[in-house]
Amino acid sequence: MDAALISTTPEPSLWDELPDMALLLAVNGDALRFNRAFAEQWGATGAALSGPPWTDLLTAEAHESLSEALALGHDFTLLLQLRLARPGEETPRWLNCAARWRPDPSNYLCLLHDVTAIRQAELLAEAKTARVQLLADNVPALIAYYDAASFRCEFANSRYAETFGWDRLSILGHTVAEVIGEAAAQQIQPQVNQVLQQRRAAAYERQLPSRDGSVRWVEVNLLPHLDERGEPVGCFVLISDITRHRVAEQAVRESEERLAKFMQASTEGIVFHKDGIITDANPPLCELTGFALDEILGRRTLDFIAPDHVARVAAVTASGQETAYESVLIDQSGQRIPVEFIVRTMMRNDERMRMTIVRDLRDRHAAQAHIHHLAHHDTLTGLPNRYAFMEHIDQLMLAHAAAKGGAAPDGAADAVLAGERSVPVDGRLALLFIDLDHFKRVNDSLGHLVGDTMLRTVAARITAKLRNTDVVARFGGDEFMVLMTGVAHISDVEEVAQKLLLAIQAPVDVEGRPLTVTPSIGIAMYPGDGGSPDDLIRHADTAMYLAKARGRAHYRFFDPSMASLAYAALVMEGELAHALERNEFELFFQPQVSADRFALVGAEALIRWNHPTRGLLLPGEFLPVLEQQRLMLPIGHWVLRQAVHLAGRWQRQGLRVGPVAVNLSTLQFQSADFVRSVAQALREEGVPGAMVELELTERMLMDDVAEVSARLREISALGIRISVDDFGTGYSSLGHLKELPIDKVKIDRSFVHDLPANRDSAAISRAIIQMGKSLGLAVMAEGVETEAQSEFLATQGCDELQGLWISPPLSVDAFEAWVREHGAGRDEPDLFR
Ligand code: C2E
Ligand code: CA
Ligand code: CA
Repeated sequence: MDAALISTTPEPSLWDELPDMALLLAVNGDALRFNRAFAEQWGATGAALSGPPWTDLLTAEAHESLSEALALGHDFTLLLQLRLARPGEETPRWLNCAARWRPDPSNYLCLLHDVTAIRQAELLAEAKTARVQLLADNVPALIAYYDAASFRCEFANSRYAETFGWDRLSILGHTVAEVIGEAAAQQIQPQVNQVLQQRRAAAYERQLPSRDGSVRWVEVNLLPHLDERGEPVGCFVLISDITRHRVAEQAVRESEERLAKFMQASTEGIVFHKDGIITDANPPLCELTGFALDEILGRRTLDFIAPDHVARVAAVTASGQETAYESVLIDQSGQRIPVEFIVRTMMRNDERMRMTIVRDLRDRHAAQAHIHHLAHHDTLTGLPNRYAFMEHIDQLMLAHAAAKGGAAPDGAADAVLAGERSVPVDGRLALLFIDLDHFKRVNDSLGHLVGDTMLRTVAARITAKLRNTDVVARFGGDEFMVLMTGVAHISDVEEVAQKLLLAIQAPVDVEGRPLTVTPSIGIAMYPGDGGSPDDLIRHADTAMYLAKARGRAHYRFFDPSMASLAYAALVMEGELAHALERNEFELFFQPQVSADRFALVGAEALIRWNHPTRGLLLPGEFLPVLEQQRLMLPIGHWVLRQAVHLAGRWQRQGLRVGPVAVNLSTLQFQSADFVRSVAQALREEGVPGAMVELELTERMLMDDVAEVSARLREISALGIRISVDDFGTGYSSLGHLKELPIDKVKIDRSFVHDLPANRDSAAISRAIIQMGKSLGLAVMAEGVETEAQSEFLATQGCDELQGLWISPPLSVDAFEAWVREHGAGRDEPDLFR
């Protein structure tokens, strides 16, 4: 222990004069000696400290570092924090401890200097710096500070440091060139110079490759840091990422360019306008309107709009709507151009603009019109089709109903229907359903080209007979519809129907030969006969059907009782389909006799239907229905077969009947294998052709002369005789008949009926008989009901008679009995004729 320093007496010395605390510290931290300042501080009296060891006042941390330092045996300086403040003080104190190692006595001479004030200032400064750093690290910018002389980094926030591959501390002390790279440093040299020499802030933009490989756009701000003399001491660097703005700007620029390109390249007109004043337009718009660009710019958009569309366009413009609508432009020559406007609002050069795409609709309208035409017209005849017709009739009915609903019914103004239909014509429409009779045959036998020619001709003829206000349509096939409007009298409709019948029937020249088709017309009136287009058409159809059933080439008005007739026809069709297999048909025979002696010369086979519930039906009741269908063929065949069979039987029985006459239907006569099937029947029944006669109507002979002629020759080659039925009712000319292998004509019973009194009928019968004689044909009269008729005909030279006056048609049994009783006629000698 150093005795010199140990003072046991409290004698004032230099040691005690020290303003700072001084003490001798043992290696274990004990205060061996201390001066007055220390004693005052720690409340010691004399040489001994009065309280606990002074080190107890140190913080645990300070205590520990002091112990460590004391153990080392070196000089040291330590900053020691006290746990407690001095009595009356709040703040813990800081002491700077400077210790000098004294090896010999193995203790330390220490000076304790109170640095609390300094330390607190330091801590405050540190906190401030930390706050600045925190702030710097959290602003969305890169921040750094460089020394003006050395260009070394003295501060950087994390973002800055990290952007250049450092961290906040490691970057410190590095030069600009080291941080941002030599090349970049040289590039920014001019800006740096500006900052340091002219002491002005500098800003520039550059691209920075970022760590993920993308390139960022940055804006760099350099700010000079000047000292109080105005000399630059440093430079603040502030970098902000402006990539987002750049990208947005670029997008705007690109879209501008695209728009410009689009405007030029577009084939559609494009016009820009602001508040209704045109600011730009592209070449197609100029072309469309016929104006040059400078004639358009600055003008009002409305100047180019058709007057009747101005209001709409103005409204759309005012509302600022983005929309698309159709309108009409007026071009330079004053022409109206249908267009579509597609309007958009957009920013252009920082201004809100309206852009309108102007689409020329002329082609589209033409195409639409074409499609509309196709959809509404029949391509063959050019007439409206079913669809268009239905639409039209629907509208007329609606208009009619609306008019009715409004005004009081003015029945007085409407005329009264003439004739059978004495109902007031309330309606103004007449629907005529026209169907061509047997048109299918034209198609089947002469081909579709001829059929098409016929249909076109018929279409033209119908149209020619009507007023402009009437409508004609083709419903497909051979069906035509006529809608007459404003009908005042039923007689008007009758007149038109009559005209149509005549016009359609007139022969058509097809490849040099005359061809005839007849129409059947059914008529329904609106509103009397139906409230809807469908009803009206259905009823006209029914009337047409009945017109056909009553012999074709006629017109008929619908009347309500027909609805059930049509139904009955439907039922009958179903029954007829089974009648043949159920064996419900039967042949009756009507004797035919010589006019002079009434000797049997033949018999006509006439079909009867034993209907399961209605009894025996005459052909008039079911043949029209049968003719509508292919059923006519098998049944016709059955008649022929049955007639031939009976002829064979009678021959074998020795019953002298003469040839059996069989009626043919058109369909049957025209069927391809008709002749073959006749020949087969004769062969199989073992009957010579001479025992059979076939009756054809005049109309059948008119169809196709060459073909009919060829067929007839084949028939007569079989030995079969041919007679022309219902003669006088058709149009056949003499010359025509001369060329055909015909054996007989039958004067139609309508002429016989009013003989001998009616002069016309008498003249006709006489003419037919004379003509027959001159052509070498036998002449028979049918429907002979009286002796007077019989006598008149015989006198005129008619060869044969058939009719009720001789005998009604008889069942087979009755006929056989009749032949046995009367077959020989009046005079016995005739039996051996
Ligand atoms: P159509 O060929 O003119 O036959 C003569 C019709 O006159 C028969 O009527 C007959 O009954 C009727 N009749 C006979 N005598 C008299 C008379 O003195 N006065 C009157 N007013 N009429 C008389 P039906 O049997 O009712 O036959 C009607 C029509 O049916 C026939 O007229 C014929 O065109 C057709 N038909 C009859 N059977 C067949 C057949 O098997 N096949 C074909 N395709 N048609 C037939
Ligand atoms: Ca007949
Ligand atoms: Ca007849």
